[in-house]
Amino acid sequence: MNSELNSELNPPAEFISDALISDEVPEADAIVSFADFGLSPDILRSLAEQGYVHPTPIQAAAIPVLLQGRDVMGAAQTGTGKTAGFALPIIQLLLAHASNSASPARHPVRALILTPTRELADQVADNVKTYCKHTPLRSVVVFGGVDMAPQTAALRAGVEIVIATPGRLLDHVQQKTINLSQVQMLVMDEADRMLDMGFLPDLQRIINLLPKNRQSLMFSATFSQEIKKLAATFLRNPLTIEVARSNATAENVTQILYQVQEEEKRDAVSFIIRERHLKQVIVFSNTKIGASRLAVHLVKTGVKASAIHGDKSQSERMAALESFKRGEIEVLVATDVAARGLDIAELPCVINYDLPYNAEDYVHRIGRTGRAGAKGDAISLFSEKDERLLVDIEKLIKQKIVRLHLAGFVAEKFVAAPREARASRGDSSRGDSSRGDSSRGDSSRSESAGKPAARAVPRSFAPKVDPWFFQPYQPTASKLPEVEKPAATSSTKTVKRAALLGGLPKA
Ligand code: AMP
Repeated sequence: MNSELNSELNPPAEFISDALISDEVPEADAIVSFADFGLSPDILRSLAEQGYVHPTPIQAAAIPVLLQGRDVMGAAQTGTGKTAGFALPIIQLLLAHASNSASPARHPVRALILTPTRELADQVADNVKTYCKHTPLRSVVVFGGVDMAPQTAALRAGVEIVIATPGRLLDHVQQKTINLSQVQMLVMDEADRMLDMGFLPDLQRIINLLPKNRQSLMFSATFSQEIKKLAATFLRNPLTIEVARSNATAENVTQILYQVQEEEKRDAVSFIIRERHLKQVIVFSNTKIGASRLAVHLVKTGVKASAIHGDKSQSERMAALESFKRGEIEVLVATDVAARGLDIAELPCVINYDLPYNAEDYVHRIGRTGRAGAKGDAISLFSEKDERLLVDIEKLIKQKIVRLHLAGFVAEKFVAAPREARASRGDSSRGDSSRGDSSRGDSSRSESAGKPAARAVPRSFAPKVDPWFFQPYQPTASKLPEVEKPAATSSTKTVKRAALLGGLPKA
């Protein structure tokens, strides 16, 4: 965690209660430092080295509950500090069994963390390793697409915490290279995504392999019927802990929509990247083939781009991610699955080349920017065929996104200059702010010199705004699992929902 982020991540005490929900934990705003949780000095040392000073809202809410051994159902996504929220109590509870012995028998698998993607598994594993670096506990990450041998060697040597994707974990089970009979803690991270990816049968098989007597946690951004059903099969009397997400989108992320024709989207992306001088941007595509083609197109136009998606080998994906983090690649073109959980802090901009089919993914995508309180731009392209998707997104975020015209690109089909005519003018004319519609409309965005000559769209696209869109995001009750919620007591603070990490007001 870089130190600039820490000041943003250290919420003032009055916000620490925002995520929670419990009558059994100490008053959350009494917890202002990690030491207040009673964590071991070995853990506190790693946290101090990371520069963590105060727990984030999800951590303040989850850590005490998990330390009590309760099952938890968490509504929180990447970027909220959720990983430490579950990893720290796991480490603390496992310290009771920690051994300095070299014998594998003294290091059985005691905690299993399941994630949908390799990237997320890798990130969670990095965090876990960091947090337990001063303890004798061992951890290993296990995912597909890479050689099994090093994973097998690590498992055979003995390891207490395994972070795994379901398929590869079952490969190890089949090859008898892992023994799950002593697992006492199970975490299902991004459970909704695991179901979307068809992991349900694998998850059920894995759950059946675990001892009945264990502590279980499930994190999910959404709570569909399937998620609730799955939760009912493996959580016992769970507490619900929720951190709302969309507030950050409202406060930190400037959302912009450009209507262009479908066949012009690729040119529009390279135009936006050039005109805004973007040096670190994730572009989202709905399909693997779309991501690949867009990356090739961008490279042809001189942009350092690379695609990451499920058809790329694990090593290719990790290499692309590392190059991106080092700044050698400016643009990562990603599908939702590949981008899920990528921990790239302070990304200044994300671009939606396609609007996502699932409105929830829009929130996930734009959550890649404006993280940890930083400002970000989320630019979406949409064509006529995306209208329906846009309606769903705006309903979900309860916000009307500002529609702007991208200079030189035609919004409606068969209006203004035909495509061939524009093509003959060449790309360079596209940034010419003297052309096109000069009305700025109601754009709240002030474009500085050197930024693209974006214009607000008058006429048919002038937003007819329903006041409902301006209400703050409130997760609906139906999105929450039907699990026990503790009754309010005198020690329970009023629950504020505006608790996404990035959305916290500064002290
Ligand atoms: P996560 O939501 O778990 O992916 O965490 C998002 C980022 O926040 C990661 O880079 C973490 O290292 C960082 N982080 C988590 N908890 C804290 C904290 N209490 N203080 C500062 N940074 C944190």
